[in-house]
Formats: sequence, C-alpha cells, structure tokens
Amino acid sequence: MRGVLIFDMDGVLVDVADSYRETIVQTVKRFTGRTITRDYIQGIKNRGGFNDDWALCNMVIHDFGVRAPYGEIVDYFQRLFLGDNHNGLILREKWTAQPGLFERLAREWRLAIFTGRTKDEARVTLDRCAPHLTFDPIIGNTDVENLKPAPDGILKILKLCPGMDAIYVGDNIDDGRSAHAARVPFIGVVGAENTRRAELTELFLREGARAVISSVNEIEEVLG
Ligand SMILES: [Mg+2]
Repeated sequence: MRGVLIFDMDGVLVDVADSYRETIVQTVKRFTGRTITRDYIQGIKNRGGFNDDWALCNMVIHDFGVRAPYGEIVDYFQRLFLGDNHNGLILREKWTAQPGLFERLAREWRLAIFTGRTKDEARVTLDRCAPHLTFDPIIGNTDVENLKPAPDGILKILKLCPGMDAIYVGDNIDDGRSAHAARVPFIGVVGAENTRRAELTELFLREGARAVISSVNEIEEVLG
C-alpha cells in the first residue's frame, strides 16, 4: 500500500450543486425573501470558515438583518435536504467518479473519508451511489471535536492507519488548511463549474497544495 487517500465528500466525491448548494439558496430565501446566487455562496466559501452550510446560512440570514434562531434555520435546512426519509434534495446528488477509478486506486491505496457531513448523511449517499466501494475509516462532523479547518479528522484517520502516509483531497479552502495543519499533502479540486476558479486555485497553491485538479477523475495523473 502506498498510503491512505483521504477524500472530502461534497464537491469531491459527490456533485452537490443541486443538493447542498440549492438547499442553501432555498433556506436563505425562506427566511429573508432574497435569492442569492451560486457565485455569492462560492465567494463566502472561499473566505474560509464556512465549510459548514448551516453556519453559512445562519451568517447570510443574519447579514440580511433577519434574527432567526439557529435551530429553526437548521431544522428548515435539514427538512429540505433530507425530506421525509431521505427523499429530499439529497437525492439530486451525483457521484463524480467514473466507473473503475476507485477500484484502480484501491489496488494501491487505502481509501478514507473525512467529511463535514454527519456520518449518517455520508452513509445514505455512499449506499446509494457507491455501495460496492470500501472507504474506511469514515470520519464525519460528529466524530471530531473541532471542525475543519482544524486538523482533527485527518489526525484521527492517521491514528487509525498507523505507519501510513496520507494525502487529503478537498474542494474548500478549509480542507487545504486542515491538511496543512495536519502536515499532510493536499490536492485541491476546483470544478469547471466553479464561478471562482482562479481565486480558489490561487488560495490552494498559497496553502501549499501539491496539485490542483478540476475533478477527482484526474487524480491518477497527479499521484504518479
Ligand atoms: Mg467539500
């Protein structure tokens, strides 16, 4: 084994433009009456500290002058996203990897996930989109004391994979900072549809990214 490849989930393994990003737009609209753009959301994401979509919604709603309780915002967000029994916007997610990619990677690497999702939300999507793949360990937001950009999740995975080198693959500046803090090489993913590609690429490189790719499907080229 060459080591452990740790993947962020949203924007890396899964295209979340029509799920999480759409849920943010609808949640902000519900509380403020305003419709924000995808570019506006990406601008906030690039500032760092807003990998968590609940925190992002809360900040935007308060910025628009609406004093909604955090719990109500989260409840509304979750109802839209999960629906009744996982039939909400979560179903619009698309698996990004082409068939065979992870099977090839798994011959040389252990595969792991460190996501800002709850483990339950990670599981639902993995079971639906990639039931045949093994990611182990999977570390979600309730498994760590400090969320990204803290290094907690990566450090936890390193502890569970003793003696293994690791690489973290993520699409948010907080992922890059998390890897940096854990002293693990980072590969940034900046999708072709990202409205702020140049800005995010620059941020990743400044954070010491080993490479920046436009999709997880290009990862074999940069792993060598
Ligand atoms: Mg992500």
